[in-house]
Amino acid sequence: MLIDRRDFLKLGAAGIAIGAFPGIAFASTELITKKGQRVVIVGAGFGGATAAKYLRMWSDNTIEVVLVERNPVFISCPMSNTVLGGTRTISDLTQSYDTLKNKYGINLIQGEVSAIDPDKKTVILANGHLTYDRLIISPGVDFMFDKIEGLTAQVTDESIPHAWKAGAQTVMLRRQLEAMPDGGVFVMSIPAAPYRCPPGPYERACQVAAYFKNFKPKSKVLILDANPDITSKKGLFMAAWKDLYPGMVEYRPNHAVTKVDVAGKTVSTEVEDIKADVLNIIPPMKAGMVASMAGVVGADGRWCAVDFLSYESKVHKNIHVIGDSVSAALPKSGHMASAQAKVCVAAIIELMQGKQPDQNPTVVNTCYSMVSNNEAVHVANVFRFNVEKQAMISAEGGGVSAARSEIEGDYAAFWLQNIMSDVLL
Ligand SMILES: Cc1cc2nc3c(=O)[nH]c(=O)nc-3n(C[C@H](O)[C@H](O)[C@H](O)COP(=O)(O)OP(=O)(O)OC[C@H]3O[C@@H](n4cnc5c(N)ncnc54)[C@H](O)[C@@H]3O)c2cc1C
Repeated sequence: MLIDRRDFLKLGAAGIAIGAFPGIAFASTELITKKGQRVVIVGAGFGGATAAKYLRMWSDNTIEVVLVERNPVFISCPMSNTVLGGTRTISDLTQSYDTLKNKYGINLIQGEVSAIDPDKKTVILANGHLTYDRLIISPGVDFMFDKIEGLTAQVTDESIPHAWKAGAQTVMLRRQLEAMPDGGVFVMSIPAAPYRCPPGPYERACQVAAYFKNFKPKSKVLILDANPDITSKKGLFMAAWKDLYPGMVEYRPNHAVTKVDVAGKTVSTEVEDIKADVLNIIPPMKAGMVASMAGVVGADGRWCAVDFLSYESKVHKNIHVIGDSVSAALPKSGHMASAQAKVCVAAIIELMQGKQPDQNPTVVNTCYSMVSNNEAVHVANVFRFNVEKQAMISAEGGGVSAARSEIEGDYAAFWLQNIMSDVLL
């Protein structure tokens, strides 16, 4: 179990019993008494919420499911860029967890996981602990603030939002755009891949430009990309910038942001210093902290290697990792997290009955991007398990839109409605 000395002392100071072994801490009370076979799931985002619901449905409710989530409600990152464009509000993207609790009998605990003990099969929260037979973690991403001098979690909460987890920061960024004078410059930076939602930053540039076009036509969007080129749907985004927002969107590749002057709203790259009116730095990412707590982060110090037949960690038995935290050439998307959750829980049900999981899993991903107020483009992929490589490999099927269209804008809205319903209702 990875728990640093500071956290260890905090647990002790909070009156929580400390275990007999050095470095091992566990809370004194079991939050829910374990009766039969139990799966604990940490994180009720796209991956975790899907896993909880489908585990209850597919196991005929025989497996006890405990879902732990820090947030009181689910807020969708997909389509959160349209809050910046102004066609949706954050409440349009917010959904309660009540149906998961009331219809599917999932024990939902709202709280912060602070440690995990793989040996004792225990998840630790501030007010108690939970034991498990198997653990699924879907903690999403956390940010590597130390890669950009001057940037901290506090700075992003207070003045320079990344808005890469939908919620208060998304609303803050929208307000900053509203307050910006016409003729101002919106500067956004994109980290080197892999990061959550490859096309998301380019969609964001479109949404901010759509808002400027209608309300602040003298303003500019400047994209500083750490990557050598646009990482997803390149031709479609370039066409949108050229046709819909001529002269408004400027793209600079190979521009990794290394430093920020918060008060001066200025970012530095290896090439130049750039002053912004509104600044949006999307920091480099790694697996959510819960993965470090469980000790399942790989040698790269960022992502978690798994067995793609069950999403069981390559480091610790009985701990499964799904979603953005997984190390793979799979897109880090909500659609993918939800698809992985279904493969993972189907495998867990088999394994708990002493059977082998499906040896040939397939997952699909579709990602829509709103390039204007009502037009979208998509990319779709199929991935199949490859035995020799022990990896999920891009397979036949899928592709990208021939061109942006309003009908795809409608499909994008239906996609969101369908996945929210599949995950939460
Ligand atoms: C702007 C933007 C646009 C996007 N657009 C799309 C799109 O169009 N289509 C698409 O498929 N994907 C899209 N994505 C990507 C998608 O949001 C993520 O890939 C997806 O959320 C990953 O699911 P996850 O379960 O891995 O993580 P999350 O959905 O982030 O869930 C992780 C959960 O774990 C909880 N958690 C973390 N740590 C703890 C802890 N210590 N204790 C308790 N709870 C904890 C968090 O609160 C969170 O609810 C977009 C993302 C962004 C930022």
